[in-house]
Parts: sequence; structure tokens; C-alpha cells
Amino acid sequence: MKRLAILGSTGSIGTQTLEVIDQHPDSFSVEVLTANNNHALLAVQARKYLPDTVVIVNSDYYNDLKRALSDLPVKVYAGLEAVEQVVEQENIDTVVAAMVGFSGLKSVVKAIAAGKDIALANKETLVVAGHIITSMVARHKVRILPVDSEHSAILQCLAGETGNPVEKITLTASGGPFRTYTPGQMHEVRPEQALKHPNWDMGSKITIDSASMMNKGLEVIEAKWFFDLEPGQIEVIIHPQSIIHSFVHFADGSIKAQMGLPDMRLPIIYALTYPDRMETDFPRFDFAECNKLSFEEADTKKFRNLALAYKALEKGGNLPCVMNAANEVAVEAFLKGRIGFMQMTELIETIMEKSVFINNPDIEDLEQVDKDSRLEARSYIDKFKVK
Ligand code: MG
Repeated sequence: MKRLAILGSTGSIGTQTLEVIDQHPDSFSVEVLTANNNHALLAVQARKYLPDTVVIVNSDYYNDLKRALSDLPVKVYAGLEAVEQVVEQENIDTVVAAMVGFSGLKSVVKAIAAGKDIALANKETLVVAGHIITSMVARHKVRILPVDSEHSAILQCLAGETGNPVEKITLTASGGPFRTYTPGQMHEVRPEQALKHPNWDMGSKITIDSASMMNKGLEVIEAKWFFDLEPGQIEVIIHPQSIIHSFVHFADGSIKAQMGLPDMRLPIIYALTYPDRMETDFPRFDFAECNKLSFEEADTKKFRNLALAYKALEKGGNLPCVMNAANEVAVEAFLKGRIGFMQMTELIETIMEKSVFINNPDIEDLEQVDKDSRLEARSYIDKFKVK
């Protein structure tokens, strides 16, 4: 029985993690569930899975949640600090980190320090603090496993290859809804268009990141830390069907690919059962129904976020943190209609250029950099005019 804490249980990854658990209820026990705002769904989940503890981050909803669960033996807490404390509880083996954005960093750090394994869906954690997280993982002898289709694919391709030299990896990208748009059309993109992803059903932050290719940029940086690679060993290719989830190229010229339907429950269950596999009744891919798997070069002139991410990766230090903070502000502003689609890139680039470089930032440095970069980005938004 693996005992789980699911941080962000009401989001896209959180709810799909619970679907995975439903496939094998005797193999997993849900000990902790946390959510930012969705107290109603959190209450429904708590009633079904009877965790030891639930946390609602937005304390405005504490009383509602407490009342909804008053007849159950479930502890109820509120606030981000409560999340950072409950991950240390004795009754947890693995923390599923599925909350969105930089705010998830500290709870992952606390969980690792408390000796918990991590199933990581929150890519921002490794992007901004990869150097800290990887050394902590080694020091505390815990496992950190990807809940991201591309990195799960790489992990699966590397299974049984210990010690064999890797030449490079190729991360696949669907190209998002604007793959075939002209730059002119991209300037006109509205939030409702960007929120429609052709293959994957995800939360709004990651869906916008996918449309702008920032998601792939974050994944490139994440790959460096997960698999200890140099920037030149990580490439991106557009694969619109999202059936091949990534490739590993070995030193002998052989290539391994991992395939499957675009279904996040597959990387979730692999992260929870690694290195084993468990049965599921999820839909299967049918080769006879698929007449084409195609590939094309990623256009970093059109999708400049990808170029910015490579720049942040190569320079390192606090630059990925600056980029991530500016991007989080940019996505929020775009969703509220305050800046245009292409202005997100402009904003991120401006904030990156203005930032002061810190070579080996610690967690406190990163918290300050994140805060400063957000302030800076917000002050710039007022200077943009949306067409
Ligand atoms: Mg992905």
C-alpha cells in the first residue's frame, strides 16, 4: 500500500491521479488532499477517499470546507504554510506535486527534506530550483519521478539502460493550436482560442503555455535536471499527433521512442508504480486507425519563448526563475485580456534582459527574485496596449 499526499487534488492532474487510484484502490491510500480554491470538489473528494488531512490554501473557504466535512474524521487546515507542514507527516510515502506555478516549490523542498518520494507534475519547481532539488534528492535518498508525458517517456526509454551513453534526447511537442498560424494571425489570438488544445485536456496555465511553446521551453529545462543533460543534448521536434511522447538517441546510433495515446493517466500511473507497471482499462492506441505520424522542425522565430527558455537554460543561475515569474504574470494578464498573445513573449524577454544575474541562488534568493520579477512584470503590463 503506497500512502499518498496529492497537492492540487482538484486540478487536472489531481483529479486524474484519483482516477488512477480508482483503478487499483487496494494499492494506494489517500492520506492528504490539498486545493487552492475549489473547496466544493475538495469536500466531495474527502468524502470519497477519507484522507487523514485536507488543506484549502485560500483560507476564505476554510469555514465552508470545515462545515462540509464536520461529520467525518478528517482534519481540515487552511493556508499555504499548512501545505508545507502536512507534507512532512509520518503517514505519507509519496507526494504528488500537482499544484500550479512557483508557489509549489517550498512544499516540494519540505517533502524531500522529510524523506518523501516525489511524483512531480509541477515543472516550475525543477525549472527554477533544479540545482537545489537534485542535490537534496541525492542527499535525502528519495526519488523524484516525472508526471509529464515527455519526461515519463524518456524515463521509460532509459529503463534497463543504466551506464549506456546517451547522445541526446528529443522532446516531442504537439505545436499547439497555432502551429500553422502566420505571425500576423498570432497577434490576433484571443484567450478562448488559446485555451483549446488540439490533443491534451489540461489546466488553463499549462494550456496557454502549450499554445505559446513556453511549456516546451520549461520542459527543456526540466529535462536537464531530470536526466543530467547538457543544453546541446536536448532537442525539440513538432509531432502534431502526440502519439510518440519523446525519444532517446543512444551513442551507438539507436533510437528508442515511447508511444501511447495522449492520456496523462499513463505518466501518472508510471510515476506511482515505477519501475513496475500495473494494469489499467484506459483506452488503447490503434495503429490501424492512425494513417500518419508526422514531424516538423520547431519554429523558434515564430515561437520565441522556446528560444528564451534555451537562453535561460544556458545561462542558468536565477535566469530560469526570472523567466518563469515573468511568464506566470504574462499568462495571467493574457487570460484577463490585458495583454495580447505575442506580448507575453515581449514581456518575458524584457524582464529577463533587465534582471540582475545571480550565479548560485538559494531558496531565499529565488523567493526574492520571483517576487521582484513579478513586480517588475506587473509594472510593465500597464505600458502595453492591447489592440
Ligand atoms: Mg508535457
